[in-house]
Amino acid sequence: MSTENPLLTMTGLPPFQHIKPEHVEPALKSLIQSNREQLEKLLKDNEHYSWDNLIQPLEDMDDRLGRMWSPVSHMNSVVNSDELRDAYNNCLPLLSEYSTEMGQNVELYEAYKSIKDSPEFDTLDTAQKKIIDNALRDFHLSGIDLPVEKKKRYREIKQQLSKLTSKYEENILDATQAWSKHITDEKLLSGLPDSALAMAKQAAEAKELNGWLFTLNFPSYYAVLSYADDRALREEMYQAYSSRASEQGPNAGEFDNSEIMEDILSLRHELAQLLGFKNYAERSLATKMADTPEQVLTFLHDLAKRSKPMAKQELAELTGFARQEHDVSDLSAWDIAYYGEKLRQHTFDFSEEDLKPYFPETKVIPGMFEVVKRLYGISINEVDGIEKWHDDVHFYEIRDDKNELRGQFYLDLYARDKKRGGAWMDDCIGRKRNVDGSLQIPVAYLTCNLTQPIGDDPALFTHNEVTTLFHEFGHGLHHMLTRVEHIGVSGINGVAWDAVELPSQFMENWCWEREALESIAAHYQSGESIPDELFNKMYAAKNFQAGMQMVRQIEFSLFDFRMYHEYQPELKGTGSIQKILDEVRSEVAVVIPPPYNRFQHGFSHIFAGGYAAGYYSYKWAEVLSADAFSLFEEKGIFDSETGSAFLESVLEQGGTKEPMELFKAFRGREPQIDALLRHSGIA
Ligand SMILES: [Zn+2]
Repeated sequence: MSTENPLLTMTGLPPFQHIKPEHVEPALKSLIQSNREQLEKLLKDNEHYSWDNLIQPLEDMDDRLGRMWSPVSHMNSVVNSDELRDAYNNCLPLLSEYSTEMGQNVELYEAYKSIKDSPEFDTLDTAQKKIIDNALRDFHLSGIDLPVEKKKRYREIKQQLSKLTSKYEENILDATQAWSKHITDEKLLSGLPDSALAMAKQAAEAKELNGWLFTLNFPSYYAVLSYADDRALREEMYQAYSSRASEQGPNAGEFDNSEIMEDILSLRHELAQLLGFKNYAERSLATKMADTPEQVLTFLHDLAKRSKPMAKQELAELTGFARQEHDVSDLSAWDIAYYGEKLRQHTFDFSEEDLKPYFPETKVIPGMFEVVKRLYGISINEVDGIEKWHDDVHFYEIRDDKNELRGQFYLDLYARDKKRGGAWMDDCIGRKRNVDGSLQIPVAYLTCNLTQPIGDDPALFTHNEVTTLFHEFGHGLHHMLTRVEHIGVSGINGVAWDAVELPSQFMENWCWEREALESIAAHYQSGESIPDELFNKMYAAKNFQAGMQMVRQIEFSLFDFRMYHEYQPELKGTGSIQKILDEVRSEVAVVIPPPYNRFQHGFSHIFAGGYAAGYYSYKWAEVLSADAFSLFEEKGIFDSETGSAFLESVLEQGGTKEPMELFKAFRGREPQIDALLRHSGIA
């Protein structure tokens, strides 16, 4: 065995093909050990602390650790294996321990305070000041002020939470892969479009099966729910999907997240109380743009009140349509998407399927790059010969109008086995100025679970998939186009979580503009752009069921926030999670799912991800993104002056200033909700 550990020797991009599970633990242990020694030395050697003799070296240490861990955590999400999973999980307690130890280091805290109180502080730039202020805030949030016993408890809680959230995520992945539907009788497949059939055939062939294989990967599941005429098939798929990782459904109890969720909630509540907050919702807001729980709840209730009448009307229309046209009088959860699609076709003579031939990957990707070239003057080109974790991955670089290299990214588009569902952007390398004066260029991972290519044709995406891609690309640009040179607040670092969806949701708007669609859409065979007639139908159908979608997002947001805000320890294990969800549904939802639905068991955003008591962020930031876009509506969607203004006042600024300040710098005033309501057809 070689003694070289690629995770320790890497200098630039991660050597994905050389990183093996056995490298992970030794690399992490070695880096943590050397960081500890270095910190001790820094604290001991210096009498007076300054940015250069303390914070700069600390940022470098953090960065090194982050850069080592990033590919490991990423591979655990996109090319999962038993060995990597074990290695990853063995590291979680070490990382948690290290992070708490840093956050509770009183000597280090005093050193930060001394810099804050020294004359040097006034001479630092905005980014440096913000980093120090954030650090002082985070020391408090890590329990620096607590007595020894409570500090110890804080540490234990963090340890347990990191294990539980990882297990929660694993259960979803395993439950998603554990179930599939093998079909050999073609009669059962009536209604499914050719693209879905080809995808299912390809999935069957990959497992050396005859016929068709449908899985719980989203593109496969969604096609059946939207198009399969066979009601029993839709019901079976719906039941399997909506009960994943729970005590219900076909794999009941096998990957059950029930207890894990109870434990996560109770530990987060205890953690918040240790720190002097009433509950975890308050703790969550300590680092967000929203000030109080009341502010969040009022915002959500108000939005619900405005949207629910429209949602009700839409459901009534759907119910009436199913009864009149299809003689179905009892719409169930597995009928909503199916008859919704039929109603869309009936009303607008338009199906999501009609657009797919116009969104081949070979047009969408260069077209998306063309859009941002016109907006921000940046050029994006593919770079070959870079090590990747999978053959389907592409690698690109971004250069600005002065040909300066601004960022690089990996694009991993398709759904596949051993890859976590959903779409996300993650940080591989962050932008910073090194002590030797060189610049570290930011690198991002853009990950989606879109429909893969079938046979020799390019992948054909739904419009919704294209929108998802633009969303993640928006996050990516925020990470990569930053001008900030201190990693703690460069890119998305240090950006309040309820403002972080601004650049991403903002990008989605271009997917609806005729002028932009000229760049991103063309028929994969004829090369024709979307015909006017089809575009008009698509646009007319834009707000189809927008009220129902709105109340669904509000349902998720309220459920998440209230669950943390109203948590009562004595109710643990008594079904209080389901009870809150039921209450929220009776207030805002128009579609009530069947009793076995365990949506919450797969809601990793709020249990395992960073959105705990923060899912409202999507709607909150949508007010910002819709209002920001409305300036482009006024000035022209490719107005380069407005584009530069957005680039300079929002995208390049990272977390150096409060989001409200950045927004006002761009928009010239505080955000208004009107644009969001107008875009959703609710105003
Ligand atoms: Zn997002």
